[in-house]
Amino acid sequence: MSAYASLYPLITYYLNRLNDWGLCFQHCKVCGKYFLAKSQRYELCSDKCRKAQALQNKREFDERTRENHYDLLYKNECQNWLNKINRAKNTSGFPADRLENIQAAFADFKKEALQQKRAVKTGTASPKEFTDWLYQQSNVIVELTDY
Ligand SMILES: [Zn+2]
Repeated sequence: MSAYASLYPLITYYLNRLNDWGLCFQHCKVCGKYFLAKSQRYELCSDKCRKAQALQNKREFDERTRENHYDLLYKNECQNWLNKINRAKNTSGFPADRLENIQAAFADFKKEALQQKRAVKTGTASPKEFTDWLYQQSNVIVELTDY
C-alpha cells in the first residue's frame, strides 16, 4: 500500500471543497503551470500569460492576414494568365508554337510563385518582394499574348 494512500481521503475532501467553491485545477496554456480557476474556460494562469497569449494571437492574426493577401494576389494572377491563355486559344490564327511557349511560361510562373511563397513563409523573402514580382508577371503575360 502506498504511503500516500492515507492522503486520498484528504485529497478527495479538498477536491470536493474546490468543487463547492466553484474552482477547478487548470493547466496554463502558456507556461504549463497548474492553477486554480473559476471554471474550465480559464486557460491562462496570470496577467503575464494572458499578455503573452494576446501577443501571440495578434502575431498569428497578422501573419494570416498577410498570407491571405499574397495568396489572393497569386490566385488572381493565375486567373489572369488563364484568361489570357484562353483568349489566345480562341483567337483564330494564333500561332500554335507561341501558345506552347505561353503554356510553358505559365508552368514556370506557377513553379516560381510556389518557391517565392515558400521563401516568404520561411522568412528568406519579404511579402513585398513576392507581391512586386507578382505584379511584374502581369506584364509578362500581356507581352506573351499580344497578337
Ligand atoms: Zn501561465
